[in-house]
Amino acid sequence: MISIRFLGTGGARFVVARQIRASGGMWFRFEGSGGSTQIHVDPGPGALVRATSALPPCEPLELDALILSHKHLDHSGDINAMIEAMTHGGWRRRGALLAPRDAFEGEPVIFPYAAKFVAQRHILTERSAPYRVNDVAIETSIRHKHGVETYGLHFTFEGTTVSYLPCGKFFEGLIEDYRAHAPDLLIVNVLRYRDAMKVDHLTFDEARMVIAGVRPKVAVMTHFGTKMLERNPNRLAAELEDELGLRVLAAYDGWLLDATTEIEAVAAALR
Ligand SMILES: [Zn+2]
Ligand SMILES: [Zn+2]
Repeated sequence: MISIRFLGTGGARFVVARQIRASGGMWFRFEGSGGSTQIHVDPGPGALVRATSALPPCEPLELDALILSHKHLDHSGDINAMIEAMTHGGWRRRGALLAPRDAFEGEPVIFPYAAKFVAQRHILTERSAPYRVNDVAIETSIRHKHGVETYGLHFTFEGTTVSYLPCGKFFEGLIEDYRAHAPDLLIVNVLRYRDAMKVDHLTFDEARMVIAGVRPKVAVMTHFGTKMLERNPNRLAAELEDELGLRVLAAYDGWLLDATTEIEAVAAALR
């Protein structure tokens, strides 16, 4: 069983700075015959507070891994706090930490002292071979076009694939890469609605192209900027669902997505 708790669904500077939507990232739970694996992805500002105040709480001491798709603040603001929480303030060396090289080096967002608390550190590279956290295999995507080193993540667990497409500019290679992994569920960061500015983020129209090209059973939009929020992400998701003929959902703060049930419902309807 796979579930995802959205500890934050906001993106972009204004939404995060004013906490119009929270920015705590996503907490994945993979539960199977071999036990449970918990992975927290992109712990932005407030992640630790959002995790511990969720109902039921997301317990940092039970985390198996922390992952950064990239080092921008809205994805990494609480990474050091989360490392300390996962390792009992550094007293219990445990867990895994996966991030691109530039999150560790140069102008690091992961403090070197904190990185040492983690049992396994792994530098993400483009289209990596599977990295294993218990029974979960994690592969990275093609490098996103996004200023700093940025990779998407393809999680495979007991025959189900969940892909996370973080921030970045649209290019054709994105569709090819994500389609090649045939995700059952695709989470897409859709920061902007529509604009002429050439920024390093997907607009809603580009997200539509990606979702239409990848054709997951279920697509989830998240990481919204102001213009997306003004347009009502739920309404946009419903429109996209009708247009593309696949399940499309808009994430909201605190949402616990039962990914397995959503995927199975779509699969049953197709049979
Ligand atoms: Zn972002
Ligand atoms: Zn970014």
